[in-house]
Amino acid sequence: MISFLRKIGRSIFLKLVLVFVATAVALAIAVGSIVRYVASDSSQRQLIGKNLAQYSTYLVDQIGTPPNLEMAKSLASRLGIGIHIKTASVDWSSRSSPLPRAPGVFQAISEFPNVRRARHRGEVLIKVHRLGADYVFTFGRRGGWSEHSHGTILLLVILVVGSILTLSYLAVRWLFKPLGWLTDGMKEMGSGRLDTTIPVRKHDELGDLAQTFNDMSVRIRDLVRAKQQLLLDVSHELRSPMTRMKVATEFIDDNKVKNQIKADLGEMETLTTEILESERLDSEQGGLSLEEIDLTQLLKDLVEIYGDLKPGIKMLTDQSVRARVDPERIKIVIRNVIDNALTYSAGQERPVEINVVSTPDHVCLTVEDFGEGIPEEDQMLIFEPFYRVDKSRHKETGGYGLGLSLCKKIMHAHGGDITVNSKLGSGTRFTMVFVK
Ligand code: ADP
Repeated sequence: MISFLRKIGRSIFLKLVLVFVATAVALAIAVGSIVRYVASDSSQRQLIGKNLAQYSTYLVDQIGTPPNLEMAKSLASRLGIGIHIKTASVDWSSRSSPLPRAPGVFQAISEFPNVRRARHRGEVLIKVHRLGADYVFTFGRRGGWSEHSHGTILLLVILVVGSILTLSYLAVRWLFKPLGWLTDGMKEMGSGRLDTTIPVRKHDELGDLAQTFNDMSVRIRDLVRAKQQLLLDVSHELRSPMTRMKVATEFIDDNKVKNQIKADLGEMETLTTEILESERLDSEQGGLSLEEIDLTQLLKDLVEIYGDLKPGIKMLTDQSVRARVDPERIKIVIRNVIDNALTYSAGQERPVEINVVSTPDHVCLTVEDFGEGIPEEDQMLIFEPFYRVDKSRHKETGGYGLGLSLCKKIMHAHGGDITVNSKLGSGTRFTMVFVK
């Protein structure tokens, strides 16, 4: 119940339906009350009563006393009324149904001492007493509403009101459909799919809103593309001067300065390569060149290169595990992860542990270090471009926070994934999964 109320509180659509229902109920009550008030206008009822009383006495005159049943029959069929006659010897009715019994309900009519009237199921009954005989005339619609029981009428009202409400519910839902599309579109766009467009169906405010969303999405896409292109162009253009500068550093005599400039240049090179590689994966021509390789061998080769760095690397397996990957791209991933593991556990005794295992469906590669670890709140964010846990340590550790975002892109391009498992102060394990 509470969750339903909460749902109503949050949904403008349900609120609107609720307003409709409340309006319908209020209208029904108001109209019903007015009709009842008008119908129960007592002075009008008295007037009608008197007219019917006078009319009934004329009918009794025609039928005669003692009653002429032939005449009563023809009057009943001609006038479409019910006539019931009861004397000491006669009990006759023009209708097949018996005279409704309503003893005590008959009320006197002023100025007509021998005439009484009653109501029964919407019909007006006038009883004329003359010379020991009772003449009862029933005026009203046979086969009309009054014939039905209250239960049937209630059921019918519920059915009609129910159908009207269902129709209005469907209509409101149809009207609000663009809001659903808009929400989905926003979610898609929020998740990074900038080419999202939503259907524009109606020429109303919601249609305008959908069109505005589409225009906005095109504009944002263009802006982001232009920015990306600029980044790509700049990165590309920086490559040649950097190569020239690298050559030029060889002519510097001061070794300290030379090494410093070389390190800076190396960092710039990594940055531009990561930017270019990441963009290349996004572009249509940036597809993977897949081939089946021995991952264990690839790991061994990398361990050779990084083995001398503190705190060292330990391979936990020697078993050959083959997988269909793009070797150059996968090297980038493993190199990045090993590089981080070594950097962030540099002061530790225990070496970084690398393992690769094969299951029937997957190949699983893990790189685990026993260093500083990553705070829980940062663990999802480290895969975002330019995200670094400790921004102030950039100078010490190097890097621009692009490495892991590139790793994620490469793993996704392989149909796999990279995940992190870390405990602050205890260490970090990166797991790369490939689908076989
Ligand atoms: P960077 O090039 O700056 O290292 P990455 O994308 O490779 O960028 O990593 C993002 C951030 O994740 C790093 O700045 C670092 O704070 C954190 N990080 C990555 N690997 C580890 C690790 N093994 N241990 C602790 N922190 C890590």
